[in-house]
Amino acid sequence: MADPSDWRLQGQEQYLKGVELVRRQYRRFAVNPDWDHDHCAFCWAKFMVEERDDVLHEGYCTLDEYHWICASCFADFQKTFEWRLAAP
Ligand SMILES: [Zn+2]
Repeated sequence: MADPSDWRLQGQEQYLKGVELVRRQYRRFAVNPDWDHDHCAFCWAKFMVEERDDVLHEGYCTLDEYHWICASCFADFQKTFEWRLAAP
C-alpha cells in the first residue's frame, strides 16, 4: 500500500480510483492536438513525443488518454488505486 502522506497523492482517487489503464507510447491528445505534452498525474514527470532531456515516451493512460501515469507511479500506486490493465 502507498504511504498516504506521499507527496504525490493529491486527491487523484476522485478520478483515477479503479479505472482501466493501458500501457502505451505517448502520443498527443487527439481531442486537442495543440497540447504538445502531458504530465504524470502523480509526480508530474513530463510525457512528450519529441526527443528531449528528462521526458518520457511511454506510460500508462486512461482509455480516453486524458490522464497519464509514469511507470514508477504506476508501480507504487497500482494496489492502492486498484487499477485494471487493459489489453494494448
Ligand atoms: Zn509519476
